[in-house]
Amino acid sequence: MRQKPSHGRPQDAPIVFCDFDGTITRLDVTDEILSRLAAPEWHQIEAAWVEGRIGSRQCLKRQMELVETAKEELDALIDAIPVDPGFPAFVDFARQRAIPLYVVSDGFDYVIRRILRRSGVPGELRNGSHLFASSLRFRRGRLVASFRHFPVPCEHDCATCKPAVIRRLSRGRGPVVFIGDGLSDRFAVRECDLIFAKRQLLAYCGEHGVACRPFETFADVERALRMMVGGRESEAGRASPARAALAGRG
Ligand SMILES: [Mg+2]
Ligand SMILES: [Zn+2]
Repeated sequence: MRQKPSHGRPQDAPIVFCDFDGTITRLDVTDEILSRLAAPEWHQIEAAWVEGRIGSRQCLKRQMELVETAKEELDALIDAIPVDPGFPAFVDFARQRAIPLYVVSDGFDYVIRRILRRSGVPGELRNGSHLFASSLRFRRGRLVASFRHFPVPCEHDCATCKPAVIRRLSRGRGPVVFIGDGLSDRFAVRECDLIFAKRQLLAYCGEHGVACRPFETFADVERALRMMVGGRESEAGRASPARAALAGRG
């Protein structure tokens, strides 16, 4: 197993990376799109990815080609996806404490922006500086996936290479915190100091000897991080929420 890097000093402010599908949302939006709108061959492609025979990049590209839908139908599906009710408060907490928060996802920017906007989460997490995700566009009733953050495939053939984003943005700061739920997080956790995991990611960490904390909702994560950062209010957070937001820009 690769040696886990150690970032920052324990007393330093954490930097937080967060998965989207199944973590911020209660359901995996890509799975919902596929199970409702794609031709059934998407299951075989998914199995190849789960078994590690193909990367998420090839998986998503081929799966999206199987989807036939209209924008209104896709939007209605997205608008019915439930979100962890603790997430907006967690975003506020991170901003008040000037804790940098990034969303890293194999899912799609269009979907993520629409859901975060509906949930009242402010623009910074939607604007591309704090959101690293695949891209999705319509072309004649079909969905086309592209990977603008990683035009050249990584060694794992990820759609969005989470470990690469984490390395690029943390730059030795830390401790590095990761929050996730699934197999798309399996490479990311190797780069992190504190992992909050549920579902398949929790099972994966257990099977591979990766230390993690189980969680159910963002209220659990917020409670744990409050303990970690203690009573220390950041100067930026006290001065003004706008400055705190800028301080989090990585
Ligand atoms: Mg997920
Ligand atoms: Zn990768």
